[in-house]
Amino acid sequence: MKNSIFVKIFGGYLLIVIVILAIAFPLSFRAIRHHHIDTLTNNLKNFCITLKLKISPLLENNQIEELDTLIKELGKLTNTRITIINPGGGVVADSEKDPKLMESHKSRIEIIQAIKYGFGTSLRYSASVKEDMLYVAVPIEKDGKVYGVLRASLFLKEINTLLNNLKMNIIKIAVIIVIILLIGAFLFSRNFSRPLNELAIASGRVAKGDFSTKVVIKSRSEIRDLADSFNYMTDQINTLFTQLSHQKEELDSIISSINEGLCVIDKEGVISISNESFRNTVQNNSVKGKLYWEVLRKTRFDELIKKVRSEQNSIVDEIELNSRIFLCSATFCSNKEDIVVTLHDITKIKNLEKTKKDFVTNVSHELRTPLTAIKGFVETLQDTNNDDENYHYLNIINRHTDRVIRIVNDLLLLSKLEGTSDSLEWEKVNLKDLIENILKIFEHSLKEKNLVLKFNADNNLPIIKADPFKLEQVFINLIDNAIKYTERGEVVITLSHNNDTVIIEIEDTGICIPREHLSRIFERFYVVDSSRSRKLGGTGLGLSIVKHIVLLHNGKIDVKNIPGAGTSFIVTLPVNL
Ligand code: ADP
Repeated sequence: MKNSIFVKIFGGYLLIVIVILAIAFPLSFRAIRHHHIDTLTNNLKNFCITLKLKISPLLENNQIEELDTLIKELGKLTNTRITIINPGGGVVADSEKDPKLMESHKSRIEIIQAIKYGFGTSLRYSASVKEDMLYVAVPIEKDGKVYGVLRASLFLKEINTLLNNLKMNIIKIAVIIVIILLIGAFLFSRNFSRPLNELAIASGRVAKGDFSTKVVIKSRSEIRDLADSFNYMTDQINTLFTQLSHQKEELDSIISSINEGLCVIDKEGVISISNESFRNTVQNNSVKGKLYWEVLRKTRFDELIKKVRSEQNSIVDEIELNSRIFLCSATFCSNKEDIVVTLHDITKIKNLEKTKKDFVTNVSHELRTPLTAIKGFVETLQDTNNDDENYHYLNIINRHTDRVIRIVNDLLLLSKLEGTSDSLEWEKVNLKDLIENILKIFEHSLKEKNLVLKFNADNNLPIIKADPFKLEQVFINLIDNAIKYTERGEVVITLSHNNDTVIIEIEDTGICIPREHLSRIFERFYVVDSSRSRKLGGTGLGLSIVKHIVLLHNGKIDVKNIPGAGTSFIVTLPVNL
C-alpha cells in the first residue's frame, strides 16, 4: 500500500492513542487499587480502635468466653473477620473459627508490627480461609502493658470485584473516547491530506504537459497559499509555452522561407535543424538526426566544420556540390556549441565572374597585337617625321599607347594570378638580396626627385620559400608607388621577422591616403586621385596585383596612413620552409 499522508497522519494518531492508553490504564488502575486499599485500611484501623474500647475490659478480666461470643456477633454484624490474639501469639477469640483450633499468630506480620509500632497491616493470601485478605491490627494495652492484639480483616474479593466493575466502566468510557478521537483524527487527516493529494495529482498533470490544470482549495490555510502559487505558476508556464511555441512557429516559417540552405549541427555533429532548401541542396529529405558527414560527403565541408569547431569562430568558404558552387558560411554558437551553416548558391555569380574574366583576358589578348603594331608604327613615324607639330601629336599617341599596353599587360597578369598557387614557381629566396637588387632600378628616380632611401634589415633574417619573380613584382610596385606619390622626404624599407613570418614595411613621407579610401585601395582600377595617377602613368591595377601575389604566398598585406606624414604598406610573408 502506498504510504500516503493520510495513512501517516491517521496511523500516527492511532499509535499515540494506543501508547497513551497502554501506559495510562495500568497506572490508573494501580492508583485506584492503592487508594481503595488505603481507605479500607484506615476504616479497619478506626474500627479496631473503636472496638478496642469495648473489648479491653473483658480481656483484662479474662472473660474469654464472653469475649469470643461478642466477637462472633460483631463479626456477623460488620461482615468483618475479627480476631483477638494474646501477647504470646495464641488466638483468644475469632469471629469465624474456634480459637482453640487455630494455630499461633505470633509470626504474622501485622501482629509483630502492632506490638512493635502500635499499628500493623498486611495484604496476603490467607491459608485458613483460602482467599486474599487485608489485615489491620492494633495492640490492646493498659498502663503501657500489652494484653493482647485486636485484628480486623476483610476479604479482598470484594475490592477486586469492585475494581473489576470500575475497570469495565472505564474501558467502556475509554472505548467511546478512542472512537471519538479516531473519528476526529480520521476527519482531520483526510482534510489535511486531501488538498495535498489534489496538488500532487495536479502536478502530475502539469508534468504531462496539461498547463490548464487548476487546484481549488476552499479552506483558508498555508496549503491554499500553496495552491494559489501553484495556479499562478501554471498560468505563467502556460503563457511562456504559448509565447515559445509562437516564437518557434515564427522561427520555423522564417527558416523554411529562406532561399539559402540552412542547417544547425550540434556538438556531436548531428543535424538538429534544417530547412527545405538545405534538404533540396543535399538531395536528402530526412537529414534530421543524421551526422553531417553522412549527409554532405565533402572533404572541404568536413574540414570547414572541424576548423570552425576548433577555432570557435565564423568561417566562409566556397564548396562545390552537385556541379553547383555554394558560398558556405559556418558560424560557431558558443552557448550550445552548435554550428549554424548556410549555403548560398553562387553558381550564377561565379559563372558571370568567369565570363567577365574570360572577356577581359580575351580582349586583352586581342588588343595586345594591334597595340604592339600601333606602337611600332608610331615609333617609325616619329623617327621619319621632321615636322615638329606632327612629332608632338605622335608623342601623345605614343604615351597613350604605352598606357594602354601597361593596362593590357597588368590585366593579363591579374587573370593569370587569379588562378591557384600552382601558378607560382617556389624557390628559396633571400629577401634582403632580392630587395637590394630591386633598389638599383630606382636609383635614378630617387636622385631625380631628391628623395632619401633607407633600408634596414634584421641580420638573422630567415630564408623564405616563395616565387622570386612574383615577389619582385610586389616590391617594385610598392617602392614605385612610394617614390611616385612622394615629393620630398624619404622612403624607408624595413625587413624584420617574427617566429615563422617575415615582415616587410615600405614607409614614405608622401601623400597620406585618406582613411575612407584605405579599405578599397586594393580593388582593381581603384585610384584615390585619378588625374594624378594618370599623369604619373598609373593604371590602378598595381596594388591589386600586389595583393593577389601576397595572398598566393599565404601572406597578408596591410596599409596604414600616417596623417600628415605619408603612407605605410606592411607585407607579412610566411617562411613556408
Ligand atoms: P596606380 O597605378 O594608380 O599607382 P595602384 O594600384 O598601384 O595604382 O595604386 C592605387 C592608388 O593607391 C594610387 O592611384 C594612389 O592613389 C594610391 N597609392 C598607392 N600607393 C601609394 C603611396 N605610397 N602613397 C600614396 N598613395 C598611394
